[in-house]
Amino acid sequence: MIQTVRGVRDIPPEESGRWLFLEACARRVFAQYGYRELRTPIFERVELFSRAVGETSDIVEKEMYVFEDRGGDALCLRPEGTASTVRSFIETSRQRSLPWRVCYMGPMFRYERPQKGRFRQFHQLGCELFGPEGPLADAEMMALVLRLLQEIGIQSAVTLEINSLGCPVCRGPYREKLTAHLESVHDRLCGNCQRRLTRNPLRVLDCKEEDPALLRDMPQMRDHLCAGCEAHFQGLVGHLERLRLPYRINPLMVRGLDYYHRTAFEAVAEGLGSQNAVAAGGRYDGLVAEMGGVATPAVGFAMGMERLLLLMDAQLGAPIRPDLYLVVAGDGPVEAYGLELAETMRSAGLTVEMHLTGGGMKSQMKHAGRSLAPLAVILGQQEAEARTVTLKRMETGEQEGLSAERLIGRVLTLLGRTDASSAE
Ligand SMILES: [Zn+2]
Ligand SMILES: [Zn+2]
Repeated sequence: MIQTVRGVRDIPPEESGRWLFLEACARRVFAQYGYRELRTPIFERVELFSRAVGETSDIVEKEMYVFEDRGGDALCLRPEGTASTVRSFIETSRQRSLPWRVCYMGPMFRYERPQKGRFRQFHQLGCELFGPEGPLADAEMMALVLRLLQEIGIQSAVTLEINSLGCPVCRGPYREKLTAHLESVHDRLCGNCQRRLTRNPLRVLDCKEEDPALLRDMPQMRDHLCAGCEAHFQGLVGHLERLRLPYRINPLMVRGLDYYHRTAFEAVAEGLGSQNAVAAGGRYDGLVAEMGGVATPAVGFAMGMERLLLLMDAQLGAPIRPDLYLVVAGDGPVEAYGLELAETMRSAGLTVEMHLTGGGMKSQMKHAGRSLAPLAVILGQQEAEARTVTLKRMETGEQEGLSAERLIGRVLTLLGRTDASSAE
């Protein structure tokens, strides 16, 4: 027997209704803010991610699915969504004016240790906004994120955290100050941080191994912002206050790479263990230039769909049920009559599950019950000959006989979907 690969899974039909619900909420909210979907390829050149995500990041060093195709090109499965969006923006930027708002959703791939809610094929959705550089855009994007969390019913379980990462003007001097401080506490840092102290000192701040008290005493970016960055941060805070969006400043939130500027934000959930961010975003004003395009400010976020689904009420996006179940008690002509009726009803917009595997009335009614359809249409020899049907309401057990012509109108009435054009 061939099984799924370790760390990946099927999303069975019983669960896919919840995914559709989440995706539909996301599409609706994205559209409300003017975002349109960009669909990028699942695989890209390796260097796209080594430049965009960073040569020394865990993702690029250890987690990418890299392969050579038959032409000898070094390719990989996409581990995240932003890099492809930026590539697409640069490839087509001459043909369009700013701002450019795009959203995406779909599978991403990382070779990580599988655990609860974390898979090697996982799913993200996100938005990217190219052009605007002021805090207005950052605030709008956070409002979008919180609105989506509200739509799927988990806003109260989630806290918005924000920080400023400074800019090339103020980050250099801050980094020196931080490095000096880290050297003075070198022996108290974990082995990993001791190694990256000079290469990437900022990442020490979000290391989960360190003593929280030690981290609290570190010099913080927020106290070393230049005038421009301070004004940007205050502007953002002002917008969040005006919109009454709840937030918390987290001075230890960092990003490891130079092209992240100013705003960083996360939506953090309780009860998800160390993987507690359901959304992560911020400004990456330096990334388009880093990737070879004309310098363009940009802000974006990504959300892990598996984590969102873990937090969502299990009742949301219940399995899809048919409008009616078609019971076919007979063979040959009865089945042909049933098939024809089912198609006629589908043409009228109804969802119909037809019984295809024979068996007696009793067992077919059992299937009808399991389908959760509110109505059953029962066909036998008599009905086929007279072109009539027996319509049964599953909840009350009430039955009525009627002609095939009147069936659709009656079904629509019982489902509460009548309109002028479908009067009985
Ligand atoms: Zn600055
Ligand atoms: Zn550490």
